[in-house]
Amino acid sequence: MKMKHQQTLIQRLLSPHQFPGGVHPPQHKAESTNVGSVKAKIPARLILPLHQHIGEPAEPIVAIGDKVLKGQRIAKADGYVSAAIHAPSSGTISEISNCPIPHPSGMNAPCIVIETDGEDKWGELNPTQDWKKLDASALRNIIRDAGIVGLGGAGFPSFIKLNPGANKSIDTLILNGVECEPYITCDDIIMRERSGEIMLGITIMRHALNAKECIITVEENKPDAFNAMTIMAKETSDVKVVKVPTIYPHGSEKQLIQALTGKEVPANGLATQIGVVCHNVATAAAVYRAVYQGEPLISRYVTITGSGVAEPRNIRALIGTPMAELIKQCDGNPASLSRVIMGGPMMGYAMQTGQVPVIKTTNCIIACTEEDVVSEPTVMPCIRCGACAEVCPISLLPQQLYWHSKSRDYDKAQEFNLFDCIECGCCSYVCPSQIPLVQYYRHAKGEIWADEREKAHADIARDRHEFRQARIEREEAEKAERHRKKKAALAAAKKKTTEATSDDNKTLIDDAVAKAKAKQLQQGPAADNITNDKIETGDR
Ligand code: SF4
Ligand code: SF4
Repeated sequence: MKMKHQQTLIQRLLSPHQFPGGVHPPQHKAESTNVGSVKAKIPARLILPLHQHIGEPAEPIVAIGDKVLKGQRIAKADGYVSAAIHAPSSGTISEISNCPIPHPSGMNAPCIVIETDGEDKWGELNPTQDWKKLDASALRNIIRDAGIVGLGGAGFPSFIKLNPGANKSIDTLILNGVECEPYITCDDIIMRERSGEIMLGITIMRHALNAKECIITVEENKPDAFNAMTIMAKETSDVKVVKVPTIYPHGSEKQLIQALTGKEVPANGLATQIGVVCHNVATAAAVYRAVYQGEPLISRYVTITGSGVAEPRNIRALIGTPMAELIKQCDGNPASLSRVIMGGPMMGYAMQTGQVPVIKTTNCIIACTEEDVVSEPTVMPCIRCGACAEVCPISLLPQQLYWHSKSRDYDKAQEFNLFDCIECGCCSYVCPSQIPLVQYYRHAKGEIWADEREKAHADIARDRHEFRQARIEREEAEKAERHRKKKAALAAAKKKTTEATSDDNKTLIDDAVAKAKAKQLQQGPAADNITNDKIETGDR
């Protein structure tokens, strides 16, 4: 079985595009890759949402008015699937309140706000140069404490993905440098500029996972990044750098794993179930910084692009920097933009305001002017052309999903594997009727989750009610039993007392008789006669 897998892997590496469907949208990558990255200015205010990752929001451990140093932990992970948050620069905590966050709904959510002091003064760092002496658990703790989450966009806490479980062995660690969505180039640039850091991060990850082999994947439209990683990989054994065809959505984790290994991640399952772990290349660089330098995740590469900026490029921005500040630093005017999109044009979403901050998962900001934004398309009826099914990388039936989602027949939508949809947008992209298919799927998923949450709450309430009823009944039964026992004990005691009393009386009588007899014996027969006479006399 293992041998078969290895042969398949080599064959796949020679011809890696093995997933169905996919599309070729215009790339728009060259605009932001002509120049290297620059470090962003420190903004006056850093806005740090407590929920920047998959899982539970972090819990603040600072108060308004506290002075904080760069790298200081200001919110702790709340639960296993959560991530700590650190101060990206030194300053004073000025607010802990609801602020606009990057979210499709434009919602506000709890944030910690730091008024920066411009000194950018680091707190104490604890680098671990001799990390090879540490076991996997200790390494995961360092990565967890550094607040590292997947930087490719998903935001899953990275230490969890480095913990496949006690009895699971990992064959392959995949480093995802595919970056297939148009406009986004931050992984391309970080691979060119930080290939050494990425490689050291990979070495740490492999140590933690005990992975047998490692594959770094780069889309073929990034030759410089491919060369940089290839040069670095030569220094390390068992690391292959693989070029994959430029096709969207090649960078999606499940598609990449299928293309490289020939294995399919089970529906609703995890890649670790098939012996594979996949991390983003920028995450590997963050792991290096956390372990070698003791630095938590406080900044990241962000692509600032779109026709709304005169100098599109990649910026190394502090987490919490308002997006409008970065647009200005790329010679854009936030006030004149018609839209700001976080992420790419396929899976990204529009911000309600440019004041929302960069978060750990912000890989790209597209500043759009009127010329980028096509007027709202006229949605036409579905013509059953089947184009959507042809491009679906999961081999779903998007048209059926659309019908059932639209008619709110969510059971049917789930029968057609709604939750396997990765929301890549390929179906919407090719639909000649301009139907916003993904919006229907997202809405349907949201409704199902809301129903499930409501049902879960109702189940909890019902369980509580039943538990309370059972407790009341149990307490009443116990009370009745206590009462019965008490009554029985009283009755027994009474009986005993009665018996004791009659016994005592009998004893007294017996004693009296015995005493009388003893007295008679002492007085002799005459006395007896006298007594008898007296008695006889008296009786008369
Ligand atoms: S691509 Fe659009 S029009 Fe064609 S079948 Fe799919 S939903 Fe219908
Ligand atoms: S959005 Fe979903 S249904 Fe549409 S192509 Fe992607 S995976 Fe398939």
